[in-house]
Amino acid sequence: MSKIDIRSLKFDELQQIVKDLGLPAFRAGQIFKWLQLGVESFDEMTDIPIKLREKLQEGYYIVTAKIKKRLESSIDDTVKYLYEMYDGELVESVLMKYNHGYSICISTQIGCRMGCRFCASGLLGLSRNLSAGEMLAQITAAQRDRGIRISNVVLMGMGEPMDNLDEVVRFLELVSDERGLNIGLRHISVSTSGVVPGIYKLSEYNFPITLSISLHAPNDKIRSEIMRVNRKWNIVELIKACKDYIKATGRRISFEYAVISGVNDSDEAAKELAGLLKGMLCHVNLIPANPVKENTYKKPDRKKIEHFCKKLCDLGLNATIRRTLGSDIDASCGQLRRKAKEEQL
Ligand code: SAH
Ligand code: SF4
Repeated sequence: MSKIDIRSLKFDELQQIVKDLGLPAFRAGQIFKWLQLGVESFDEMTDIPIKLREKLQEGYYIVTAKIKKRLESSIDDTVKYLYEMYDGELVESVLMKYNHGYSICISTQIGCRMGCRFCASGLLGLSRNLSAGEMLAQITAAQRDRGIRISNVVLMGMGEPMDNLDEVVRFLELVSDERGLNIGLRHISVSTSGVVPGIYKLSEYNFPITLSISLHAPNDKIRSEIMRVNRKWNIVELIKACKDYIKATGRRISFEYAVISGVNDSDEAAKELAGLLKGMLCHVNLIPANPVKENTYKKPDRKKIEHFCKKLCDLGLNATIRRTLGSDIDASCGQLRRKAKEEQL
């Protein structure tokens, strides 16, 4: 019988296991607390009797995110982690410090199969999904490393959350559990490239998270060129799903728009974008496109991005330019893993 990933189990599932083993109910709370604190072995669960630890070891394993590399920005307090998972696969997370506390950007998959042209994460395709416990382990490893408490989480690292939605939902339930890390869902953002059925499925849970849509283009012509996903679910279908999501959850959507020089940064594009999103409960987040070695996309100069932003605001949208953190450490996801893999070859 293969072992079970115990860090991915929810509190009520642990309670059931403890019950089935004929143990007192409080053991579930102890085990859950240790797992959420980020222990990497059953031996670290010091208030659990050795006999019980051995029993757990027989049927379960603890997924970990071991720090393989740590890049610290000299400009701000951003830290980029390259973690090694139990099977040797590499995963990236980025820890950022804001006035209101720490925020971490975590990965949901190893690699990605969506193949967006501007993104480093998709270059090698998808290796495998991450489990809910492995998403959690990225947070606890950073917390332990720095001796801090993280208050905000964004699912914007490697991978497409909607391509691994069951584990993402499980993660959201785990991380917000009051008996564990207790990070409120209002402090969590999930980003998707526009997997329409996933948006509908997520809306059924009615989580008070922020949903981010990586739009990046005002029309199908540009979007299909840079994002393969648009050939499956086009802009009309995507915007309809977003409107339905807002209606079902009452939550504002955040549209991400990576501004790429000569591709999507014209006045015409701003006008089209404003027409597309007008009247929606939403915010537009402009991201200066990050250069990736394997493609030729470039970000426009700062003035041009500011002009694009002003244009959107003049046309009635709520738009801002995202602050760039950790620009000296390749802080955008996918790039570090790619580099590390190249060095291994
Ligand atoms: N797969 C999900 C979440 C992870 S990607 C998604 O696509 O939404 C996180 C964000 O980074 C997305 O908005 C993505 O489009 C953006 N991104 C990827 N590569 C980028 C680059 N080179 N420059 C700027 N943004 C990039
Ligand atoms: Fe995948 Fe998102 Fe990168 Fe597209 S932008 S390849 S969906 S990680």
